[in-house]
Amino acid sequence: MTKFDLYSESAINEMIRRLKDVDEIRIHTTSVGGCMGREAFRWSGAPKLAPMHFWSAKGTVAHHIIEKNIIDGEPLRYDPDEITKVAVGRGTYVPQRLAHAIRPQVETALKNFKIWLEQTEIDLDPENLIGAEVRLESPLRGRYTLTGAIDLLTEKVIIDFKNGKKSYQKAYYKQLGNYERLCIEHELGTEFQKTLVFLGDPDGPQEYTPKAASIKSAMQFFKKELDDRMRAYDLMEQGVLPCFNPGFGCSLCPYRGICAGV
Ligand code: SF4
Repeated sequence: MTKFDLYSESAINEMIRRLKDVDEIRIHTTSVGGCMGREAFRWSGAPKLAPMHFWSAKGTVAHHIIEKNIIDGEPLRYDPDEITKVAVGRGTYVPQRLAHAIRPQVETALKNFKIWLEQTEIDLDPENLIGAEVRLESPLRGRYTLTGAIDLLTEKVIIDFKNGKKSYQKAYYKQLGNYERLCIEHELGTEFQKTLVFLGDPDGPQEYTPKAASIKSAMQFFKKELDDRMRAYDLMEQGVLPCFNPGFGCSLCPYRGICAGV
């Protein structure tokens, strides 16, 4: 296995060089609050040795098929052999062994999505639909830009699909709150219903609209975490490695094979 030492002078110098070299640093909404160690690996040029994880694959594939259905009208059908031939993310391909392993979970998500389309009271009339996978961005201080990709957006509702069973997570509320902020900044509306649709339960889909107070409170954390993230990049550019934040996200991290998690 390739030996990569994040703490070596060469790795840290590479991190500094790369960070000094770019005009823009893009921060995705869902990365805010996540482990900055992953960014240290990325900017220092570490090899991504860990293969795609089961949890990452099932979510990415289900999102990909649903997005293709909404945008291009493609069928809600999963073929494990076909999926290995197409990029399901930014240049990401699903390995054969995972394509078969995730089949039950992906098929549950697709079945639930169909049921949800039939049952939801949200107005999904094409006339009111702004789009699927709607990508928005907002300039922050200096060269930082905050980005977000909204799964489904109507003139009145922000919808985010989750591949697990229903759960109440602050991270989801932060995501929805920030998406609304981005929509307002882009003058797509002044206020939106913000709804989560959980697709991972074999008993059926679950639609959940968190309370406004929960989202407002979560957004206080989001603002602080966003500031912390920008500060961490500022320090990385001076050669200071960030704090690591090991947790569930490690199973999805491409650097988990070389990370000591400290
Ligand atoms: S493996 Fe975990 S602790 Fe290490 S960089 Fe990735 S997310 Fe961070």
